Amino acid sequence: MRFVPILVASICLLAASAACADEITFERDGQQINLSGQVIATHEAGIVLHTPDGKMWPIQQDEITNRKRTTDPFRLQTKQELIETVLSEMPPGSQVYETAHYLVAYNTSRPYAQWVAGMLERLHRGFTSYWSQRGVTIHEPKQPLVALVFDNQDNFANYAQAELGDAAKSVIGFYSMHTNYVVMFDLTGGAGDSRRNLGIRDIQRFMSRPDFQWSLATIVHEATHQLAFNSGVQQRFADVPLWFSEGLAIYFETPDVSSSRGWRGIGQISKPRLGQFQKAARGGQPFLPDLLSNDDSLRKAATALDRYSQAWAVTYFLQKRMPDEYDAYLTELSQIAPLNDPPEGARIKMFQKHFGADLLQLESEVREMMSGLRP
Ligand SMILES: [Zn+2]
Repeated sequence: MRFVPILVASICLLAASAACADEITFERDGQQINLSGQVIATHEAGIVLHTPDGKMWPIQQDEITNRKRTTDPFRLQTKQELIETVLSEMPPGSQVYETAHYLVAYNTSRPYAQWVAGMLERLHRGFTSYWSQRGVTIHEPKQPLVALVFDNQDNFANYAQAELGDAAKSVIGFYSMHTNYVVMFDLTGGAGDSRRNLGIRDIQRFMSRPDFQWSLATIVHEATHQLAFNSGVQQRFADVPLWFSEGLAIYFETPDVSSSRGWRGIGQISKPRLGQFQKAARGGQPFLPDLLSNDDSLRKAATALDRYSQAWAVTYFLQKRMPDEYDAYLTELSQIAPLNDPPEGARIKMFQKHFGADLLQLESEVREMMSGLRP
């Protein structure tokens, strides 16, 4: 009898697809939390735990009170199990609209969820075919991708508060590296329950209005982050330069609501970003070295708009003019493991390895290209 656990343990240790699950107990905000999952990264400061529901938990070493390797193989939840998890996190009465790659959990009207799901599927198709035409290997997500759609901004903000704090009231959607969800609300708003009568065609027409294009771009932007993190382009909690993640998401965000066949918005000129870039360029200060290494400059309100426009401009330039180099750089970035922070200066060296040592020369080429584009 005493050999049985050892035998079971060897099954999950030896089979590459079935690592043994770890049980982790940790304390956070005065609460004890027990989780079972797979430790996918370890650092002297902490770990990242992947749980069967697809969440990833960064946990600091000093929060951990107990850690134990089990003899159960780690496995991700099935689609049905994931649906139950997601519904338990949504307001009562919520439902799930399923498509080939997505679970859209909603407490708004079914046509709206259906419209969101259609848009996400088209983006997925566009994203996949874009990289396969470029010869970049990506993979299908390991679990269905989840989008939460709340009926109004207040219910969205209530949910988002835990992750975003006060910013929850001022954003219209986000992607969470922790939950792996894209979260949004019904943008058709409207008085009372009148929107419940909107059919999918009415919603499509509504969302084609010029004043909704920016909101729509935000949703597509967040859904692109989710795709990048679930197709092998990037790993969650890995030190990928923020300009790269954001530039990539903006490159895909140009919405294309009119087409039902496919996503034609990839790599189009982002008019608001181009306008912002040209405005910032009048100052003339070099931006590239700081953009490559200083993530905070994309986060701070005072510099974020300029920096996002520069992240887009550099991405646009590299994808159009140096696509092979960009793809090789992307591939190297995709291999950075979570919590594996590079030493000072390593980001710039990696960039120079792919695109050349002369950053000022490259920057002047980006500026020249941008000054020739019309917003
Ligand atoms: Zn973003």
